[in-house]
Order: sequence, then structure tokens, then C-alpha cells
Amino acid sequence: MKFVYPRGLRKALTFSYDDGQIFDRRLAELLRSHGMKGTFHLNTGCLEQGERGSCYIAEGELKRVYEGHEIACHGVQHRNPTTITKHQLLLELQEDRKTLEKLTGEMVQGMSYAFGNYSPEVIDVAKTVGIKYSRTVNSTHNFFPPADFMQWHPTCHHDEGLLELGDCFLDAAEYYELPLMYVWGHSFEFGRSGDWTAIEAFVEKMAGKEDIWYASNMEICNYISAVRQQEFSADGMIMYNPTAVSVWVNTGEGLTEAKPGEAKYIGEH
Ligand SMILES: [Zn+2]
Repeated sequence: MKFVYPRGLRKALTFSYDDGQIFDRRLAELLRSHGMKGTFHLNTGCLEQGERGSCYIAEGELKRVYEGHEIACHGVQHRNPTTITKHQLLLELQEDRKTLEKLTGEMVQGMSYAFGNYSPEVIDVAKTVGIKYSRTVNSTHNFFPPADFMQWHPTCHHDEGLLELGDCFLDAAEYYELPLMYVWGHSFEFGRSGDWTAIEAFVEKMAGKEDIWYASNMEICNYISAVRQQEFSADGMIMYNPTAVSVWVNTGEGLTEAKPGEAKYIGEH
């Protein structure tokens, strides 16, 4: 048997964009209009300036701009996590979470490291304030899910052969179980130059595929974390799902969904 994504989908595609500048408006709409989901990592200390007409998204437009996407932390002031004290970092992250949750009315448990910098101490603080995953800037150029969601290395930055990697992903080799393509960047990299060609071409290429789950970072983290908590009978024929998330497997004979709390016969293999 093999694990598959929700409803039997074989692959997942996700995006992660940092800093919350006004060019997110166009990027969020581009993804939304193609049935895709992204995660936007925001600095709440910058959002306030948005009210005064800066290059950042304003608090008042937050829900509208990011509708259908995930909003996540990036630190209140975008301070370098490995330079400041543990206490300062705790406030950077805790206050960012609190403000974002107040503005959205939703739980915010995702993050990306400001400047991509982190350490074991930084991870410890982030977990302490309830962060469940955090993205780095270290590209893997492959489609394996992360070994550790607190060091979630993306597949690529959008400047790193995006279209070619997209082709590879569409043809992802069979040995990939739960293949994931994770693209990151900043919308100002398109916005300031005015050149949106590459990301638009990528989104067009990847849209509307029947075997791709278009999901936010948090949805993928929740799903794969649930997969890793599945329990099996000694002969491997029964799978018990102790989590709050439905988990799907392909047994070769068909698709099986184990709902939360359910034990399912998954057959010989
Ligand atoms: Zn940043």
C-alpha cells in the first residue's frame, strides 16, 4: 500500500510568499483564480504602516486579499531570529501570532524564518509559542516531503528553473510517495520589475490537474503529520487512524479512507 493525499490525489503543490507587500494582491488573485492555495507569511509590525499608504498590505484589507489562502507568521518586525535574544524572539513570534489571529479570527500556526535564519534554539522558541512548521530558504530541487516540519526546506525559489521543475513534478517518478512541490519567494520580486511572466506561466501549466492537491502549507503539514501517526497491526493489514484528520491509502486494489478514530482493513500486500 501507499499513502496518498486526500481523496486519493497523488501529488501536492503549495506556495509560500513572504513579507506581505502590496504585490501579494495580484499573486493571491492569480493563485485563487487557478484553484490554487498559497501561504502568506506576514510581519504584523509592517501591516500597520500599510494604513499609512506604504508598500505593505493594510490590516483592513487582509481578509479580502488573502481569502482562500493561509496567513502565517514571519515575526512582528522581521528581526533576524539568530541575532536577538530568546525573549525578544518569543515576543516577535507570539505577538505576530496574536495579531494575525485577531485580524483573521483563525488559528495561525505556520511560519517562515525571517532571512531564512534559524538554529536549534530558534526552533525551540517557535515550538514553545505554538508554531507547527517553519520554512527555510534551502531549496531541495526534489519532491520529498520534509523530514522535519520545523526545518521545511522548499523545492525551489521561483527563480530556480521553475518551469523545468514543474515539468519534472508533473512526471514525478513512481518512487515518490506523497510527492510535494513547494515554491517560495516574495511577490515584490515580480511586482517591482513588473515581470510576472514566469509565475503566470507556471500557474497556467500546473492548474486544473486531476491528480494534484492544491493546498496551503498548514494543510499539507497537518496531513503528513497525520500520516506519520498511523498505527498498523503486526501483519500490516489493519491501519488505525488515531488523529483528527482523514488519511487515505491506495492498496493497489483501490482507495481506502481511514476517518479520524477509524481502524480500516487495508488488505494483503
Ligand atoms: Zn522576509
